[in-house]
Amino acid sequence: MSIQVFGMPVSRGVAIGRAVLVASSRVDVAHYFVGADRVEHEIARLREARDAVAAELEALKRELPPEAPHELAALLDVHLMLLRDDALSSAVKQWMVERHYNAEWALSAQLEVLARQFDEMEDEYLRERKADVEQVVERLLRVLARGDGRAAPPAAAAQAARDFAGEDPLVLVANDVAPADMLQFKRSVFTGFVTDVGGRTSHTAIVARSMDIPAVVGAREASRLIRQDDWIVIDGDAGVVIVNPSPIVLEEYRFRQRQSELERARLDRLRHTPAVTLDGQPVELLANIELPDDAASALEAGAVGVGLFRSEFLFMNRDGDLPGEDEQFEAYRAAVTAMQGLPVTVRTVDIGADKPLERMSVHELRHEHALNPALGLRAIRWSLSEPGMFRQQLRAILRASAYGKVRVLIPMVAHLAEVRQVFEALARARQQLDDAGRAYGRVEVGAMIEVPAAALMIDRLLQHFDFVSIGTNDLIQYTLAIDRADEAVAHLYDPWHPAVLQLLQHTIARAGALGRGVAVCGEMAGDVAFTELLLAMGLRSFSMHPARIASVKQRVLRADTRHLQALLAQVMASEQPAVAMQQALQSRQPH
Ligand code: PEP
Ligand code: MG
Repeated sequence: MSIQVFGMPVSRGVAIGRAVLVASSRVDVAHYFVGADRVEHEIARLREARDAVAAELEALKRELPPEAPHELAALLDVHLMLLRDDALSSAVKQWMVERHYNAEWALSAQLEVLARQFDEMEDEYLRERKADVEQVVERLLRVLARGDGRAAPPAAAAQAARDFAGEDPLVLVANDVAPADMLQFKRSVFTGFVTDVGGRTSHTAIVARSMDIPAVVGAREASRLIRQDDWIVIDGDAGVVIVNPSPIVLEEYRFRQRQSELERARLDRLRHTPAVTLDGQPVELLANIELPDDAASALEAGAVGVGLFRSEFLFMNRDGDLPGEDEQFEAYRAAVTAMQGLPVTVRTVDIGADKPLERMSVHELRHEHALNPALGLRAIRWSLSEPGMFRQQLRAILRASAYGKVRVLIPMVAHLAEVRQVFEALARARQQLDDAGRAYGRVEVGAMIEVPAAALMIDRLLQHFDFVSIGTNDLIQYTLAIDRADEAVAHLYDPWHPAVLQLLQHTIARAGALGRGVAVCGEMAGDVAFTELLLAMGLRSFSMHPARIASVKQRVLRADTRHLQALLAQVMASEQPAVAMQQALQSRQPH
């Protein structure tokens, strides 16, 4: 039977494919594909984990005090029996052999299958055995997490996924995907994805958008309603997921898919056209990247530089083993050389909030860790609390600047004391490089404007910084007090809010008046609904996912900034800026 699930559209287009479920487990685990040559290794890991858990349970049983209730020993026996159950281990093995799932993913996928079977049982006693299976699986997952369960590098994971994918396109369905897992799935075989939780600018959604695949988040029940291998359609424009569509619906969506492919091909032709408005204003279209490898797609998309390298992605997926100075230097240098002389803006780590270092979903983070991570120790606050690590990153970035044009960008600046500390750290990093006789170049230093406080004191900040880049994703979150990752308040996350527009206008105007560079690198920069408005505010530098560049360029090529001032005035004076914008644009269309 065909059903529909509604969520939020976060990345456009239509995807049609078979569902691959990433099960949610109480123990958050890594999900990645392993190459054919590593399947045996994964099976061995599972076997070793099983032996270790059996030894744990035997020891627990031996050490039970004589006064312990008899049921406890019986329970441990049940767990031991489940552990040795061949049906369980061969089903798990099948996930590894046929699908190339890593051991943790295979286990949690099988747990999901069993949990459904238990839920459907009539007999209450049997139904309650579900908890036993869960406990055994969780013990196994904990033991696996202690071992060498480190994820394969993304490129290897992507290849592994291609190995098993076969003919059918695949779509990812999950309760939530940690940003670290999302990175693993980047450039893999998925043609779309759906999650139960998340908001429009949660980092998971951002990575999906950077993959340029249709996605729906906040679809609440999706991972419960959709089953492994179900055929699903993701309508990334409307935020709808159709499970097991009828042939007529499927045909309609296939038609729409072909239309958007044609549109994409048309836009592709603009790749090497310079972005200049009708009245001759050059506009800089830059790329946001997560890994050095992304630089290639940035160039291919026609980006004239990298406006935001989210360096924190180098720090994820590593089980606490953070990249050292040399490793970071190599990564930054790789991006710089790949950009062939075009500028690369490296943002210092923005760890915290919904991008934890450890593998953790947003929900776990919110419920089990900092009281309010978005307002806590994140971004520059975190870096300044780890001064050794911060200087190490600065040294790596400075060293890369010997190979091309590099700029440093500091996230979430709010206090002048932070500004002083940043420049002191930079001075020390340069001194350390001088002492070590290492080469480095000149770097411009910029601040991200993501907190209303920073937008309001833009003049002060520009006494210290060479340029600013407006992170609208966070600026909206902090101006409106809306957690950007929380689907419960997602309807209030409004980029058109007059307060947000005023802060944007003020920041762009003041930076322009002071003759400093100003860019927007949040999701608004890649959303064509805002292109004319941002141009009207005086913005000439936009940084976005490479996949968005062609669409934004098309709008730039059709814009005439001489006629945009009236539009700006109308939108800023309106109580409903989004509606005013649409009306203004419609009235300008030739009849
Ligand atoms: C932003 O906040 O707009 C931004 C670009 O940074 P991030 O999305 O990585 O927080
Ligand atoms: Mg931000």
